[in-house]
Amino acid sequence: MSQTQKLVVATHNKGKVKEFAEMMQDMDIAWLGLDDVGVTEDVPETGETFRENAVMKAVAYAQAVGLLTLADDSGLEIDALGGAPGVFSARYGGAALSHAQRYQLVLQQLLDVPAPARTARFRCVIVVADGHGRILAEAEGVCEGLIAQSPAGSGGFGYDPVFFLPELGKTMAQLSSAEKHQISHRGRAMRQLEPLLRRILSDG
Ligand code: IMP
Repeated sequence: MSQTQKLVVATHNKGKVKEFAEMMQDMDIAWLGLDDVGVTEDVPETGETFRENAVMKAVAYAQAVGLLTLADDSGLEIDALGGAPGVFSARYGGAALSHAQRYQLVLQQLLDVPAPARTARFRCVIVVADGHGRILAEAEGVCEGLIAQSPAGSGGFGYDPVFFLPELGKTMAQLSSAEKHQISHRGRAMRQLEPLLRRILSDG
């Protein structure tokens, strides 16, 4: 009989662990957060790309705990800002800003940029490493959109109220979480990862 395998998600955010567990609920995995395995220190996200950060976190935490570990990194790339905020999405404009202050800063910076030039995308990279720190799988998801002229909607988090999806005529914050998962960078990366994770688990 196969044994339930432990998989550590490289985050202290219990909501994120739950999100992964729910999306892959038919897999025989015991999903654990860093707090569940006694990790209190953070690996600094010093990489220049989402992939670099995800690799750094997956490898370092996997080696620290000796278990299969999944790490993700994501953020918003705005073409008119040369790809910013990019890997700095969580702290753009300074660590003290609220999510709303952060997207207001973006709107301010794009004040003179006309609608067709407000192209942007959310990107998410997920990396899985084994207990020795060897990378076993990688996945990437992208969600293209436009930065709106003003915020709309109250769902989601982060930059969602200003991320407009032209094909839906709504911002990301106006979608239900199921709708967001269908089209989001994170949902796409997870769907790409799923068969890879199944193979890793069946290889034991
Ligand atoms: P993390 O990769 O989950 O740490 O996300 C980094 C930052 O990117 C977040 O703090 C948000 O500012 C931004 N971000 C990532 N994903 C989303 C999303 O789905 N909606 C809005 N903002 C996001």
